[in-house]
Amino acid sequence: MIHSFVHEALPMRVRFGAKSLSALPEELDQIGLARVLVLCSPGQEDTAELVANALGGRCVGVLADAVMHVPSEVAENASTEAARVGADGCVTVGGGSAIGLGKAIALKHGLPIVAVPTTYSGSEMTPVWGLTTDGRKETGRDARVLPRSVVYDPDLTLSLPVSMSVTSGFNAIAHAVEALYAPDATPIISLMAQEGVRALASALPGIVADGSDAAARAGALYGSWLCGACLGATTMSLHHKLCHALGGTLNLPHAQTHTVVLPHALAFNQPATPDATTALTRVLPGEGGPADRLWHLAGELGAPRTLAELGMQESDIDRIADEVTSRSYGNPRPITHNAVAGLLRAAWAGERPSTEPGDKA
Ligand code: NAD
Repeated sequence: MIHSFVHEALPMRVRFGAKSLSALPEELDQIGLARVLVLCSPGQEDTAELVANALGGRCVGVLADAVMHVPSEVAENASTEAARVGADGCVTVGGGSAIGLGKAIALKHGLPIVAVPTTYSGSEMTPVWGLTTDGRKETGRDARVLPRSVVYDPDLTLSLPVSMSVTSGFNAIAHAVEALYAPDATPIISLMAQEGVRALASALPGIVADGSDAAARAGALYGSWLCGACLGATTMSLHHKLCHALGGTLNLPHAQTHTVVLPHALAFNQPATPDATTALTRVLPGEGGPADRLWHLAGELGAPRTLAELGMQESDIDRIADEVTSRSYGNPRPITHNAVAGLLRAAWAGERPSTEPGDKA
């Protein structure tokens, strides 16, 4: 059934395709950028160099300082460097960490971002920034941090290790899953979410079979674009709150945590989200419901399925459940401490996801 909705599209310019990196200068022309600072994570300097070469004289520096969750001192240094070299924009090369650093500079100096994503995090499609100070991550929305142009070149994802590709793919799927039952979901978002999940769920097995499969790489990057657009347009619920708490408080790795938690959070919400469940069943066919299907898919693709293997102690379960239930936010099904603790215990131990996790807590 189509419910009432308000749809407001975010600005979006996307150039997609193998070898599209060579058209990066045209993207800079669109915005009128002449002096850009290239940002990447340590270890990604080779890819950043490819980008710098594609830009020729318009690249005024490469900064390989991006790390997860954007520590404020790293953001401060990068902002100072952007001002020092007289940059009029930034090109981010990499995943959510590189894009996050570009967003921090955009927030401070208003410099436009052109993103060249090489993971499936989806940050390039959102106006959401994050900054971590003294171990606390602050996030916010600001139109200035939304990249003005995004160049998706699947060739640049060929080097993404297979295990990281799988967990990053699940991270993307999580955005689409929660968009399907978001309070601000719209029919267009739901179409993008279904297609994003379909594209990723069909591409990831191809990547596991052969990490250099160009069609599978293109399919996964295409899916991550759609899932990222869903993240940028809607309000996330329990699953993202859980992962935020696990990452922020226990420093668990971002994409892997999303992979382990998603089937459990989805199973819990399924009884309250019949339309989303129907939509997901269409694109994740197979035994059991979509939550079960995702849990099996993670196992089939060799992804982690326990929070224990990511470094969480059983004794942390109550602490995280307290943190998640002490804040108020929307979720399609009311949450209780007992249910969240049960969900976390099942995810910690790698049990099959349950619609009634509190019964075991
Ligand atoms: P990441 O950017 O840290 O990348 C993970 C690792 O993969 C890094 O070591 C990086 O160097 C490496 N890598 C990236 N691309 C590669 C490639 N093609 N080949 C080989 N190695 C490659 O991690 P991520 O999962 O992309 O992003 C996570 C971060 O993004 C978190 O801080 C998260 O909070 C943030 N995030 C923000 C938003 C948002 O809307 N603001 C959305 C999603 C994620």
